[in-house]
Amino acid sequence: MSEQTLFEKILAGEIPSDAVYEDEHVYAFRDINPQAPTHVLVIPKRKMQSFADIRQADAADVGVFMQGVSRVAAQLGLEKDGYRVVFNTGTHGQQTVHYIHAHILGGRQLQWPPG
Ligand code: 5GP
Repeated sequence: MSEQTLFEKILAGEIPSDAVYEDEHVYAFRDINPQAPTHVLVIPKRKMQSFADIRQADAADVGVFMQGVSRVAAQLGLEKDGYRVVFNTGTHGQQTVHYIHAHILGGRQLQWPPG
């Protein structure tokens, strides 16, 4: 069996995290190294490894995950001024944790293009 990722350990409560939202489908917690005043990670409770897995996953699972991301952003009060959702994917995307996660970034004017 492959070793558990950091986010599976966070989901299991083996590693503490600063939760901001949880329901039966998703878990959201603050990034330990925030890149904006608000920087939250949202993960589905049913594991996918990366954004590349989305097309093969059950559409209902993808749907509730995406709705969860939108719900968390709204709950964080980011809708008025806007925010960014990022899925780092693979090597060029600089994905470091191989459990899909949406970064929600907000609370300041973000720049484009990203580095
Ligand atoms: P990635 O680079 O894979 O897209 O994002 C992984 C994110 O996880 C990074 O932004 C990093 O700061 C965050 N991270 C790494 N270790 C921990 C941890 O132990 N707790 C929390 N809350 N976030 C973490």
